Amino acid sequence: MLPYKNYYQKLDQIKDGKLSLIENVNYFLKRIQDNKHLNAFNFVFADEAVEKAKIVEEKIKSGKHGKLAGLVIAIKDVLSIKDKPNTCSSKILKDFIALYNSTAVQKLIAEDAIIIGKTNCDEFAMGSSNENSAFGNVLNPVDNERVPGGSSGGSAAAVAADLCDVALGTDTGGSIRQPASFCGVYGLKPTYGRVSRFGLTAFASSFDSIGPFAKNTEDAAAILEVISGWDVNDSTSSKNSVPNFSNDLPLNGKKLRLGFAKEYFGEGISPEVKSAIENLMGNLKQHGFEVEEIHLPHSDYSISTYYILTTAEASSNLARYDGARYGYRSQESSSLIDMYKSSRSEGFGSEVKRRIMLGTYVLSAGYYDAYYRKAQKVRRIIKQDFDEAFKKVDIILTPTSPTTAFKLGEKTTDPLEMYLADIYTTSANLAGIPGINIPVAKDSSGLPIGLQLMANQFDETNLLKMSYYIQEEIL
Ligand code: GLN
Repeated sequence: MLPYKNYYQKLDQIKDGKLSLIENVNYFLKRIQDNKHLNAFNFVFADEAVEKAKIVEEKIKSGKHGKLAGLVIAIKDVLSIKDKPNTCSSKILKDFIALYNSTAVQKLIAEDAIIIGKTNCDEFAMGSSNENSAFGNVLNPVDNERVPGGSSGGSAAAVAADLCDVALGTDTGGSIRQPASFCGVYGLKPTYGRVSRFGLTAFASSFDSIGPFAKNTEDAAAILEVISGWDVNDSTSSKNSVPNFSNDLPLNGKKLRLGFAKEYFGEGISPEVKSAIENLMGNLKQHGFEVEEIHLPHSDYSISTYYILTTAEASSNLARYDGARYGYRSQESSSLIDMYKSSRSEGFGSEVKRRIMLGTYVLSAGYYDAYYRKAQKVRRIIKQDFDEAFKKVDIILTPTSPTTAFKLGEKTTDPLEMYLADIYTTSANLAGIPGINIPVAKDSSGLPIGLQLMANQFDETNLLKMSYYIQEEIL
């Protein structure tokens, strides 16, 4: 058990000499060793983390340190760290070494966070169970026969199993919130554009967002504050100012307007998940909140719209892996075209190939209007549903996932069934709005149940305030 509740307590304990940062890092390294079976990490930077701990501990003692000094963080293996592998859990990038730091990582380093390793994930972040990794699947720390969720399964498992303080993940359709829900930790997907995507290996560029996994709202807020902001290297990053999230967590009597949508409690939801979320809403009412019914009438189209648009974008983004410039190259080919084909056939796993094929299909001349263009229009309508809803309420409450963590192998033979694991999360990426998973309950087998909060674009302030309130007053 860690002797601190959140990062601020940790920092105080280091300052007071009650906690040694070096021992703390060694503690995490030992836990990583002892929990190797979880397969949460693709790479661990043991020596460097200890070295950094020595330097940062000195900085803390001298009073001149960054905003995240000594916070031990794991990074999903799709975000570049200079001179470290960036494999995206794919054979095609198995030996690829990053040439520069992603902006999010650079900002963490600048604030004296300690990077302990890179976490396993679904190949190119495509998946909902972490079973599509060239490094093998990750086990859910709560129940080792179950998946941790995906695609950021390694990051979620690492935080849940106390292998680090916090982790970065990415969320294109739920890959932070859903694994956070399955493993019982906090997971925040920021507004699209809030965090620079520079140095993040692209999956679907108009959906991808980077965000934290944490054990509490305070740490999630602290990280978001550091990694957010405009970046000259990402033209889609936002110039909106970054609020001081971490100094502004208490609600202080502010009554946020809450909403729920029936569309998120329909077919396919497990009765235990449904009643846990309904109980929680009941609790909030007892605390004086009004929980109003709102409508998100086009929710049924989220999954299909998401899978048309993201596969289209992925097919284009992944065209760069051709064996010619970098990454895996097949040794078996006789011509250039043959080399491209064999490198891609041998280098990509089956889910990635499925998405590339779907994506090329929906973009092909004869089908573009029927699929891609149509889906773009539906995306706009889904966004308008949220615009309407946020005229009435500040925060929308939903389950994060229709079920708790499923068994390993349970859905691998049925891609459609797997895609439905994202039924409540893809809409936030379609609309570009922020969302957070809060671990609020356990089912009868002891598996975590997650509540999702969604807020309007760039309203992470209220999202985090509500998360903090629930953490402190309801749970
Ligand atoms: N599970 C979803 C997918 O497979 C979401 C992935 C993600 O958010 N990266 O596309």
